[in-house]
Amino acid sequence: MFKKSIVIKQFLLYMATISFCVILMGGMLSVIYTNHYMSETKQELIEQGEKIAAAINKAYNTGNINNLAYEMQVLEDYMGAGVLLVNKEGVIVLASPGMDSSLLGHVLAYDELVENIQEGNVVSLETGSSSIFGTPMLIVGYPLSEGQLSGIFMCRSMPEIKVSLNEMYRAGVFCLLLAFLLTALVSLVTSRKMTEPLMDMNRAAKEIAGGNFEKRVEITSKDEMGQLAESFNHMAESLENIEKSRRAFIANVSHDLRSPLTSIQGFLTAMLDGTIPPEKQERYLRIVLEESQRLSRLAEGIVDMSRAQDSKIVLEETDFDLNEIIRENCAVLEPQMEEKGMRIEVSFAAKETMVHADQDKISRVLHNLMNNAVKFSKEGGVIEVETTFSGKNKILVSVKDHGSGISEEDQKYIFDRFYKVDSTRNKDKTGAGLGLSIVREFIQAHGETVAVKSKLGEGSTFLFTLKLAK
Ligand code: ADP
Repeated sequence: MFKKSIVIKQFLLYMATISFCVILMGGMLSVIYTNHYMSETKQELIEQGEKIAAAINKAYNTGNINNLAYEMQVLEDYMGAGVLLVNKEGVIVLASPGMDSSLLGHVLAYDELVENIQEGNVVSLETGSSSIFGTPMLIVGYPLSEGQLSGIFMCRSMPEIKVSLNEMYRAGVFCLLLAFLLTALVSLVTSRKMTEPLMDMNRAAKEIAGGNFEKRVEITSKDEMGQLAESFNHMAESLENIEKSRRAFIANVSHDLRSPLTSIQGFLTAMLDGTIPPEKQERYLRIVLEESQRLSRLAEGIVDMSRAQDSKIVLEETDFDLNEIIRENCAVLEPQMEEKGMRIEVSFAAKETMVHADQDKISRVLHNLMNNAVKFSKEGGVIEVETTFSGKNKILVSVKDHGSGISEEDQKYIFDRFYKVDSTRNKDKTGAGLGLSIVREFIQAHGETVAVKSKLGEGSTFLFTLKLAK
């Protein structure tokens, strides 16, 4: 559990990256800083050497060596550097007060220093601990042109230099550590913050899986996490609706199955036991027939739906005249429309509109849409069926009614399986909420689209497209 947590993984990843960067940066900075500090120190020593050289020249010219002693004292105090004067033979002839006086008379045993300075070059060298100074030294030499002297050597003890460097390192390490801790803290907080919504969703998903379809997550941001939360809620809403529809469907179907079966059983029993005399039997047999037809319609819808659901829709596409199919469907609906005193107005884009599609399926689509238009229209209403060319090779079919209309909220779901608008549920007993989902499945199987435009109380228009035959 601990190992799998994203927070920990993220945190460890951040830490590894930061540690790597800190070590790399620390290493690089210390090398750069050491080099810089050493060259600065050398530069300062050279500048001081230049001044003392000038003072020595002056002393030679004026015979006043006070100034020279003063310059040496300043260098020693201010830079922490001792001064040695070396003659042409490389022998130390003068040492500043801070230097060990036993060095006087010794040869400065660094050939490259002495030779280079005799050629008039500025030189520098870091000695080891086994030098005549007894401790590692940074020696910078400045050439002299006057008299017996070959050069002036400024010496700074390396351990002293290291002390100042170490102070800097300590400050650097402290800053890096502080940055490291700060980043660790920030990364811990942000990774926690990032995973919180995920954990929320996880909890919600578990609840939904357990049957609580009303569970939603809180949307706290507009970033990818917020979008995920939004999609999650949308999914939960769809699941809730499917679940509601499923329950409603079972309730409806059992009711719809029970009522025709009860009346069929009732009439047949009455006929058999003679309660209904033979001369009246025809009328009741017709009712029995109607009821059994209602049952088969219901069964048909369910079978169609489950086939569509298993995506077993196999299209048998041919070229046929769409106008003809519309006319046939008008004829089928005629008795129903007559009963309600309704009228249908048809307007075709052309005299003959050849389309390429599965004829039976399109006929079923038209039937479902026109049947709904009749079902949800008032007595004496008008239905308009229209075809218009759309784009280069498409035809747009619209079925318009002036009936009850569908609210915007319901429009989102009417194409879902088993969905029936509540207000129509009690009035319309023949439908099982499958008609429009079949329409959508069939139209989508053709690679086309279906849409609805509707306003509550004003009527609805259902639109779908088809490909024209080539
Ligand atoms: P049914 O087979 O029950 O009619 P449908 O899937 O065809 O189911 O329709 C789903 C629901 O959409 C219907 O119950 C009805 O409430 C609404 N509906 C469909 N067509 C129309 C329409 N033309 N006018 C108003 N409501 C409609």
